[in-house]
Amino acid sequence: MLAHVAAQPALSTLNPAPPMRFGLLADWAPSHEPPGYQCPFCAIAGGAEPAFTAWREEQVFVHIAKHWDPGGPGRALVNPTIHYENIYTLPDDVAGEIARMVRLVATAMRRGYPCDGITVRQNNEPAGGQDVWHLHTHVVPRHGQEPPPVYGLERADDAERARYAVRLRQSLQAVV
Ligand SMILES: [Zn+2]
Repeated sequence: MLAHVAAQPALSTLNPAPPMRFGLLADWAPSHEPPGYQCPFCAIAGGAEPAFTAWREEQVFVHIAKHWDPGGPGRALVNPTIHYENIYTLPDDVAGEIARMVRLVATAMRRGYPCDGITVRQNNEPAGGQDVWHLHTHVVPRHGQEPPPVYGLERADDAERARYAVRLRQSLQAVV
């Protein structure tokens, strides 16, 4: 387990303090970030929470969500390393890298988790269900005939999050 973690470059080398890019939204789509917003996902991109980070590349990273539906443990979030509030002004190359990584995470999750299917979901603005102001795409393991996932019901156990990060990383290494 630790060998896989050690094999990855130092987080600070890969993502030295990614620049913030606030205020890039179109004039028809207001920003919802409060003044002085301390973005938790930029912090993760910069190296916070390495135990819960399953994968890192130049433009995208993947971490195990802090909350998950009790019926779908191990939910992953695919995120750009640079801060974009939502999908509207996302550059095409970053959008392409996110789509590629979502496909890989879904494939790795289906192969590596005990699940029967995958739901992909991406929320924009409060009316769209967004509550973290850094674009992110949910990749959710699904089981049998369980109802659609409900987010944020349960704070995940940190040890379990770390185990899922290792599990997803190992499974990704088989499909990338
Ligand atoms: Zn951010």
